[in-house]
Amino acid sequence: MQHPGLDRRTFMGTAAAAAGAGLATVAAAGPAAAEQPAPAVTTAPGATDTVYRWFGTAGWRIDHGRRTVLFDPYLTRFPTGLYDGTFSERTALTVNTRLVDAHVGRPELILVSHSHWDHVNDVPHIAVTTGATVVGTETTYHLLRALGVPAGQLVVVRGGEVLDFGDGLVVRAVSSRHSRNRGHQYFAPGTLHAMPPQPPTTIGELPEGDTLAFQLSFAQGPSAFLMGASDFAERELAGLRPDIAMVAVPGSTATHRYVPRLLDALGHPGTVVPVHWDRFETELVNPVRQDADLGAFLAQVRQASPRARVVVPDYLTPRTFR
Ligand SMILES: [Zn+2]
Repeated sequence: MQHPGLDRRTFMGTAAAAAGAGLATVAAAGPAAAEQPAPAVTTAPGATDTVYRWFGTAGWRIDHGRRTVLFDPYLTRFPTGLYDGTFSERTALTVNTRLVDAHVGRPELILVSHSHWDHVNDVPHIAVTTGATVVGTETTYHLLRALGVPAGQLVVVRGGEVLDFGDGLVVRAVSSRHSRNRGHQYFAPGTLHAMPPQPPTTIGELPEGDTLAFQLSFAQGPSAFLMGASDFAERELAGLRPDIAMVAVPGSTATHRYVPRLLDALGHPGTVVPVHWDRFETELVNPVRQDADLGAFLAQVRQASPRARVVVPDYLTPRTFR
């Protein structure tokens, strides 16, 4: 039986199966943007640039020199019926190890926003095969322990922590909130305070476990705010001033004035990158197939932050933001 709070808008938006908005770098419209040119976006990184690759959904691979950080890496993208009305929370978890191994590099850190399958599914395999440290909630901790990740690789945060990983790599954990459907609900809420008796084998056994966001910075270059779901608590963002914001696109209007309130709270980042707007049960191949109403989101960003540069990502393309 499906969770009563579930519909597809729990995750995303209407089934706008439009062809991907593609690889566009969309300079913010309007005269203000023209007067204040934003920093260049390039795909030809220098030695100290931070290079970002979008994995689809909320996921990123972020490289700075020899250091690699992953956020919500979900590459397997198996079908759950989310897009054809046959969604089943009994869908079995599976990992496409060949695909995952081909894209994750050698991460030292994996940041996890929450424990839903489209954020955490591939994390146990990556952690076990690379030895990377995973930063997430207590629920993520218990689930990953049950899925075979050694406790010594797991770091539990609640939000508010500022973690120093040396040589300028700093991770700020931020208490955040999960996306809501038009009924103000979402799939599989709940937290774990102990390891489940059996390792989870289905997506329904992966509860949200509260939601985090992160702000990531290296010794040089811009800081980035990373979201895994489209809601937030303003007071938790106080003092954050990221240069780049990876913003989850909402699938409903359940959160009041989501875009302007978020951009205000973040101090109007110079670069805004929409994430979690793609249909994530299709192959990870460009052009991106759109699910959430990206056009409406972009219009709201232009209105709220007319000077921001908006970069619509495509899959796996290395990008730097200066
Ligand atoms: Zn979720």
